[in-house]
Amino acid sequence: MEKIILTGDRPTGRLHIGHYVGSLKRRVELQNSGEFDKIYIMIADVQALTDNFENPEKVRQNILEVALDYLSVGLDPAKSTLFIQSQVPQLTELTTYYMNLVSVSRVERNPTVKAEIQQKNFEKSIPVGFFTYPISQASDITAFKATLVPVGEDQLPMLEQCKEIVRRFNMIYGGEALVEPDIMLPENETCRRLPGTDGKAKMSKSIGNCIYLSDDAETVRKKVMDMYTDPTHIKVSDPGHVEGNAVFTYLDAFSKPEHFEKYLPEYENLDALKEHYTRGGLGDVKIKKFLNSILQEELEPIRARRKEYEKDIAGVYEILKKGSEEARRVAENTLQDVRNAMKINYFSDEELIKAQAAKYQANKD
Ligand code: ATP
Ligand code: MG
Repeated sequence: MEKIILTGDRPTGRLHIGHYVGSLKRRVELQNSGEFDKIYIMIADVQALTDNFENPEKVRQNILEVALDYLSVGLDPAKSTLFIQSQVPQLTELTTYYMNLVSVSRVERNPTVKAEIQQKNFEKSIPVGFFTYPISQASDITAFKATLVPVGEDQLPMLEQCKEIVRRFNMIYGGEALVEPDIMLPENETCRRLPGTDGKAKMSKSIGNCIYLSDDAETVRKKVMDMYTDPTHIKVSDPGHVEGNAVFTYLDAFSKPEHFEKYLPEYENLDALKEHYTRGGLGDVKIKKFLNSILQEELEPIRARRKEYEKDIAGVYEILKKGSEEARRVAENTLQDVRNAMKINYFSDEELIKAQAAKYQANKD
C-alpha cells in the first residue's frame, strides 16, 4: 500500500511555535525522509469559515500568511502538494455522504469540539457547519487515501471519528474504497499541546497568546520576557515551581544539550536548571534570556527564508494553484470509487441502463 500523508492548518492567523513543534517540524522531516509516496498539505479555509463566516477577508489574507509560513519552515512544493481546501469541491461532496454515517450525539461527544464551543461562546447557537467540521475533516483525510496524519493532540478525536466513518462506509457499501489513517503525535509530550505565553490552555491563533514564526527578533524577545512563570516566585531566592511554568515548558520543547554548552555552560542540562529553580536562587530573567537565545536560533533561518519568498508573492499563489489542481485530480479519483460503491454512478454504469431497459421491456411484453 502507498504511504500517503495528509495534514493541514486553518488560515485563521499566522502560524506559531506551537504549530512548529506540534506538527510543522515533523512534516518537514517526513517530507525529506523520502519514505512517503505522496504528501498533501492543506490550507483549510472551508473549516476556518465555519467559525469565521462573518469575516471572509481574514481567511483570505491568512491563506497567504500560512503558505509563506509553510515555505519558510522548509515545506517544498517539489516534494509536497500544497493546496487550498475550497478549491477541491469533491471534499464537500464527500462530506455530504459521510453525514449520514454519523449521529448528532456522536459529534456532541467530541471533546475538542466541546472545548471549542465554549471558547468561542457558541453555547447558545452553534453553526451547523462548525458542529460538523470533524466530518469534513474525515473527508479531507480519506479523499487522499492518507495513511498517516501528523498533528497535535487536539486532533485525536478527529482521527477517531475519521476511522469510524471509514469502517462504517466500507462495511455498508462494501469493498475497500476508503483507507483508515493512523495519527502521528510528536514524540516529545510537551510538543503535543504547547501552552500559550500566558501559561493558559494551548497556544492558539484564536486566543492571541502566540509567538509567531514570522515575529521579528525584538517581538520574540519582548514576548519571552513578558511570559507567565510562577506567581509564587517573587524574589530570586524564593523556591520556584517548574510545573505549569510556561518558560520551563518551552525549554522542555526546544532546548537541546548543545544549547547548555553554548549559552549556560554552568548547568549540565535542563534537569540541573530545574533543580536550581526549584531550590531557589535562580531568577526568571536568566531563564527567559536563555529561552530567548534558543528561540532566536531556531527562528532566524525561518525568518530569512520567508523574506526570500516574500519577494515573489505571485509565485506563491502559483504554487497553491498548481497544488490545488493536483489535489482536485486525486480527490476526483477517490470520489469515483465512492460514487460507485454508493451506487450513485447512474450514467457511467452501462449494465444498469441495460438491465433497466430489459425490465421495462419485459413488463410491456
Ligand atoms: P485556531 O485557533 O484557529 O483553531 P490553532 O492555533 O488551533 O488555530 P489549527 O490550524 O487549528 O491551529 O491547528 C493546526 C495544527 O497545529 C493541528 O495539527 C494542531 O494539532 C496543531 N497545533 C495547534 N496548536 C498547537 C499547540 N499549541 N501545540 C501543539 N500543536 C498545535
Ligand atoms: Mg485549532
